[in-house]
Amino acid sequence: MTSRIRNLGILAHVDAGKTTVTENMLFLSGAIRSPGNVDKGTSLSDGLAVERRRGISVRATTLSFAWNDVRINLIDTPGHIDFQAEVERSLRILDCAILVVSAVEGIQAQTVSIWDALAAMHIPVMLFVNKLDRMGANSTGVVDDLKRRFSADVIQINQPASEGEPDAGIADLDADGLATLTESVAAQDDALLERFLNDEPLTSADLEATIAACTAHRTLFPTLCGVAKNNIGVEELLAKVVAYFPDARTEGSQADEKQPVSGVVFKIDHDAKLGRIAGVRMYAGRLRNRDTVRNITANRDEKITQIKRSSVNRYEDTGILEAGDIGFVCGMPEARIGDILGDDGPVPGHYRLGEPLLSVQVIPDDEADHTRLTEALQQLSSEDPHLNFTWFADERELHVKIMGAIQTEILTEILATRFAVYARFSDPTVIYMETPISSGCGVESYTMPKPCWAIVKYLIEPGEPGSDVVYSSAVGVNDIRAKYQREIASSIHDALSQGIKGWEVTDLKITLVEGSDHVLHSRPGNFKLATNIALLKGLTETDTRLLEPILSFRIEAPESFVGMITADIVNARGLFDPVEIDAGQVTLSGRIPLATSMHLPARLNSLTRGTARFSFLYARHEPCPPGEGVIRAYKGISPLDRSKYILKMRGAITEAV
Ligand code: GDP
Repeated sequence: MTSRIRNLGILAHVDAGKTTVTENMLFLSGAIRSPGNVDKGTSLSDGLAVERRRGISVRATTLSFAWNDVRINLIDTPGHIDFQAEVERSLRILDCAILVVSAVEGIQAQTVSIWDALAAMHIPVMLFVNKLDRMGANSTGVVDDLKRRFSADVIQINQPASEGEPDAGIADLDADGLATLTESVAAQDDALLERFLNDEPLTSADLEATIAACTAHRTLFPTLCGVAKNNIGVEELLAKVVAYFPDARTEGSQADEKQPVSGVVFKIDHDAKLGRIAGVRMYAGRLRNRDTVRNITANRDEKITQIKRSSVNRYEDTGILEAGDIGFVCGMPEARIGDILGDDGPVPGHYRLGEPLLSVQVIPDDEADHTRLTEALQQLSSEDPHLNFTWFADERELHVKIMGAIQTEILTEILATRFAVYARFSDPTVIYMETPISSGCGVESYTMPKPCWAIVKYLIEPGEPGSDVVYSSAVGVNDIRAKYQREIASSIHDALSQGIKGWEVTDLKITLVEGSDHVLHSRPGNFKLATNIALLKGLTETDTRLLEPILSFRIEAPESFVGMITADIVNARGLFDPVEIDAGQVTLSGRIPLATSMHLPARLNSLTRGTARFSFLYARHEPCPPGEGVIRAYKGISPLDRSKYILKMRGAITEAV
């Protein structure tokens, strides 16, 4: 039985060597017989065929292995920007992270956004400067850059030997390196600093203890180097993962079975034999086979059948899952990512890196597969709520939300391999929103044909950007009883899911200013119907403006391309921050609408023949300039088509299926 746990994430800009580091750790621990070879497409942690084909990891894998007496739960995270949702989920359960940086390319665009995300979540970080063997490797330059751009508290733990040569290796720090390390570490601790200033010797045990304490608090960031490809420096890295990162097990939890259970579902896997398995990170208490636990998100009890651990290519029975650990749980057929089991107190707040900004229509190759495709998408959307599968019955259209174009490739493959459904995807459309331009009122008197009675009048006012929907009622319960007021409050969100331009309405204030129910005639559902009509009527009065998603970008490229790149960005309605130029490399940053920049990554690649490095991250929604944006027809029967809508809501018109 292992006594300590590290929930470790390995993160990197694509190609820095994250998969190779992972494979070598598994090899060193004895979990695999030989390190897989990423280039030959046999890497074990890259599960999907599309990942093997493209040589990128798109789905986070979770693998556990033992190193000495420590269990390391390795959460491999995808580096590709399309999969920020996966990165986000992985970060949520990490306690510590290794950020891999190439000794040749150094800090790349994605390295920066990962660093920022780890900082925002207060996750302890070590850095691994990889690829010392490549021509042009310059680990000293990279470490200087890390100190300058990330943190002055980056410290070097070992150093390269024969850097830039095929037989490059690593060495202990030389006298200068050790002096620098000692000084940086002593500066973190008053007692050590005093001894250092008095020229008393500091033992390596003194230094190690302080480095560990400071790493846990993110006041030091140890950096090691190596050649992952030749398994050089990876063992040293593992030793420091154990030595410097804090234990995930909360104190006393092992003994205390009575502590209430607290865990979160971070992943849903499918296994040919076991069916649906939920990856759970435990924060408190203990779960065993056959326990019943409350799923407080879904508001139901879950009966756990088996608890397992994910090791290379298979699940092992453990029968128990304790605080601090990560396990895979069978017996929760409807669990979704993000569900909280037991007490939500100890679960850290959700940190969002990105919501999907694109919508695509999914079209079956064979119309006869329509129902099976619907079922498959429903299933996938239940596992990943971000997909937000929507079925527009009147139009017979299936829509999902995605992060980027590569995701459609992954989905095509999952549909084919897991569900044997063949489908294609339309070109993605940007997801716009709309917001009222002025104040106005929306009124509806729904009193015919009886039995029904719901009279409402809403004041609609523009809200601050980012304020979302703020609803309040100025009507007393004498006019509209409490149960109908509750019905109104809970139907506002749905009523605003499509505005007069076809998009979700946001950043507005809605006040119920007048209204009445009827003791005899009012029925449940009447106020929902009246609210839907009144709000849309109100929006035609206030009129709305489209809001479009704006990305912040960062592009690094050789200076010679600056003219072409700038022209492209200006064409795409982009705005620039001041340009940075350093040693022939230019760094451009700024903001750009998603709608005009969807093809920019591919274009940058071809324009600069692959030498540009870039990242695009969602910043916010901003008003669309006049003439830009897309107005969508209302999906389904519009509440503005009042009589038809009322008939439909009363069930007189059944939607085409
Ligand atoms: P990931 O995208 O970050 O997971 O990176 P991979 O582990 O897939 O590595 C990307 C490429 O770099 C592959 O072709 C690896 O063989 C190569 N690579 C990884 N580590 C090293 C290294 O230490 N030296 C050299 N020269 N190549 C490496």
